[in-house]
Amino acid sequence: MNSPDDTPGSTVCPGCGSVLPSSGWPEAPKYNATPECAEVAGELLGYEVQNAARLGYLHQLRIDAYGAQHVAPDGPRIGPVFALNGLYMFLERGSGNLDVRTAHGIMANSFDDWPRLVPPARVGELTAYDVLTAGGVDEVESTLLRWAREVWEAWPDAERAAVRKLTVEIVPERYFRHQ
Ligand SMILES: [Zn+2]
Repeated sequence: MNSPDDTPGSTVCPGCGSVLPSSGWPEAPKYNATPECAEVAGELLGYEVQNAARLGYLHQLRIDAYGAQHVAPDGPRIGPVFALNGLYMFLERGSGNLDVRTAHGIMANSFDDWPRLVPPARVGELTAYDVLTAGGVDEVESTLLRWAREVWEAWPDAERAAVRKLTVEIVPERYFRHQ
């Protein structure tokens, strides 16, 4: 039943396209991801915790980059809205973890008619696996930043414009570090 192109014992992540050896990990229903890619995301969290002094400021960015790259087609609409909001606030407004988490809380309590944001077929080239295996902490940090920016820039202009507009309407200016 395998075509000649199939690599036996490996999986292709529908979100980021990473090809990883099959593992016994359970399904990851929250994300459009293979269990193997979700396992990588968990290992990346572990690496971040071990290197919190260096990587802690990227905690929310990592979550949002992964979320924006692995949007479940039937998931709640707020999922990709939050993910893109976080990417926008970090990358274009200089906002930190707490700013973005606070913004998510404000957004969740102030609005519920979210647009359905549909990701492009390929959401950037870099993956969480690339970040995890980049090398030492310097390389992980720089690759995580490149990954997040690639994911943000891969989304269509219309979706990004919608998220910018929603964010500016709902989130108070004090959570933006630059205007
Ligand atoms: Zn993936």
